[in-house]
Amino acid sequence: MQRHMTPEEFREHGYSVIDWITRYMEEVEGMDVLPVVSPGDIGNMLPDTAPESGETFGQLLGDLDRIVMPGVTHWQSPNWFAYFPANVSGVSILAELVSAALGQQGMLWSTSPATTEIELKVLDWLVDLMDLPQGWKSSGAGGGVIQMSASDSTHTVLVVARHQNRFRASATDMVVYVSDQAHSSIEKGCTIAGIGHCVKVDVDDAFALDPAALRSLIQQHIAEGLTPIAVVSAIGTTATTAVDPVEAIADIAQEFDLWHHVDAAYAGTAMVCEEFRFHQPALERVDSYTFNPHKWMMVNFDCNVLWVADRAPLIDTMSILPAILSNTAPDVGDVVDYRDWHVPLGRRFRALKLWWVLRYFGAEGIRGLVRDHVALADSFAEWIESDDRFELFAPHPFGLVCFTHVDGDEATRALADALNATRQVAITPSVIGTTSFIRIAIGQTNTEEVHVEALKTLIDKLS
Ligand code: PLP
Repeated sequence: MQRHMTPEEFREHGYSVIDWITRYMEEVEGMDVLPVVSPGDIGNMLPDTAPESGETFGQLLGDLDRIVMPGVTHWQSPNWFAYFPANVSGVSILAELVSAALGQQGMLWSTSPATTEIELKVLDWLVDLMDLPQGWKSSGAGGGVIQMSASDSTHTVLVVARHQNRFRASATDMVVYVSDQAHSSIEKGCTIAGIGHCVKVDVDDAFALDPAALRSLIQQHIAEGLTPIAVVSAIGTTATTAVDPVEAIADIAQEFDLWHHVDAAYAGTAMVCEEFRFHQPALERVDSYTFNPHKWMMVNFDCNVLWVADRAPLIDTMSILPAILSNTAPDVGDVVDYRDWHVPLGRRFRALKLWWVLRYFGAEGIRGLVRDHVALADSFAEWIESDDRFELFAPHPFGLVCFTHVDGDEATRALADALNATRQVAITPSVIGTTSFIRIAIGQTNTEEVHVEALKTLIDKLS
């Protein structure tokens, strides 16, 4: 009967896992990006019951190649242009390993002082690196917290907005506003929070929220007896990376006393570079902001950051103190108990990988990555514009380029299908209204000019 992996065994197997990962990193570029499997293919390779007797580690590792790899979509390929990137990096993988080994539960300061204090400090660093309001630092009224996903952060702040307004209106009469291009997590958050209305506001030609339409909807809803409580601005929508007019929305939020949340899930990383910051003016007047280092910042999923301008309403909403969690640390010093900053109680040491990534690459490494990708996207967009067969579908402020085939939706869809059918690249087809378009997200860590050139050759051949 096997009950332990001894330290000696761990060392031996650990080295073999590192060798396996290193080989994957070396070989992923040459692999087909998309797997050829049908639903059930992978599951059917597993027995119907858990093993009664333990197996050797060699058997587990062998099944990585036999069972897992045929069903893996290679998000870490430099030929990955689909969705948004979800990048890993060597240093982040190693930090995950250490975090797993330490097995910290950082729900209270006292259950893992290092988890809490490193997280506080690293999120303060990011405030400076991204030129966010100083009041969002832990030394100010606000503060940052790492969550699993942008969806979690958005759901959390919508619950806070509802809680703050609980004496003014019933949740079913509350209204949250987003553009009709906003991520589905906002609508889901309204459902989770029991908020009665999630209203989609029209957008302009660049797919950005129209503030005049927002204002008139708010006025209409107030006249109807509803209670507007929050508005969400997107800096980089999912479909086209459209940027909502944050400043105009901040004016309206202030006028009608709405919680103003900013969703910069993908594009937030670009704010390490000064030249992109004009996209997010007036942040000193927003209530919360979220972005995903697990998209473009080389930090393994999961790592999302939420900042609030004022931590009091968040803690007021989320704090419940059962006897088992009471402790004396708050009497001794000023401590943050992160369990009061989100829905889950337990929390792992995610800050370690963010800390290591920021230290290993430095701000200039991350800036260089963003700038290289955006330059590649700009030149890809120029190529699209110069070819009579294609048209740009939307502005491309960051690393995403959206285009259509001039022969219409069917030709666009056929091209998207043909590109993915090669399995040499992954791209995402999408639709707004009735128009089909192709999204090319240039942002995988190892994507370079040679990969974009190969993509262009494929597009040229298949059009
Ligand atoms: N918001 C935007 C604008 C997104 O693009 C995404 C995902 O791509 C999300 C939210 C959801 O992110 P997560 O998967 O971290 O919940």
